[in-house]
Amino acid sequence: MNFLKERIQRDGIIKPGNVLKVDCFLNHQIDVAFLKQIGQEFKRRFADVKIDRIMTIEASGIGIACITALYFDVPVVYAKKTNAVAANDELYTAEVKSYTHNCTNTIIVSRKYLPANENILIIDDFLANGCALQGLISIVRQAGANVAGIGIVIEKGFQMGGTIIRNLGYRLESLAVVESMDSDNGKIHFRKPL
Ligand code: 5GP
Repeated sequence: MNFLKERIQRDGIIKPGNVLKVDCFLNHQIDVAFLKQIGQEFKRRFADVKIDRIMTIEASGIGIACITALYFDVPVVYAKKTNAVAANDELYTAEVKSYTHNCTNTIIVSRKYLPANENILIIDDFLANGCALQGLISIVRQAGANVAGIGIVIEKGFQMGGTIIRNLGYRLESLAVVESMDSDNGKIHFRKPL
């Protein structure tokens, strides 16, 4: 995953509050050729797993999920964020605390786009405290589907999400794990692969 680490080193900007901005290739401007490499790498890592559908959360996960889905040849469904929604027979819902916006969103997925018994690959851009993933996992479980794997582009390994999700027994593959980052000197250190 050197191409990803090199890109983060080159273009990542460390903001106060342990936020890493990668707006110039992943979160605002999107380098689609770069996303192809990400999609291919997720396919390589989950080549042994039967995947029926990819699920993500708006907005930053959508582009990554769509390109990845080309390699699995499956549909994508994304959880939408709303302020509030009444309990509804047509929707699965979960509460998710936003890491970057300091608010809590209800996320929703239409029941018709998440059939029971499917194998779901969850994809997202970042993993911090794991709230987004726990919301997505909850929705997959409500649907009676199976979380077959979780693919994250950038895990911040100094926050708790990775440990929580792995301890729950899920197969979590993070393409780059940031071990530490320092907003004063701009230095980013990555966890060595096992
Ligand atoms: P968590 O729910 O794991 O605390 O945070 C993950 C979600 O928050 C991701 O969907 C991602 O959009 C956002 N996020 C968390 N940390 C960062 C970060 O350092 N940079 C960016 N750009 N997004 C982040």
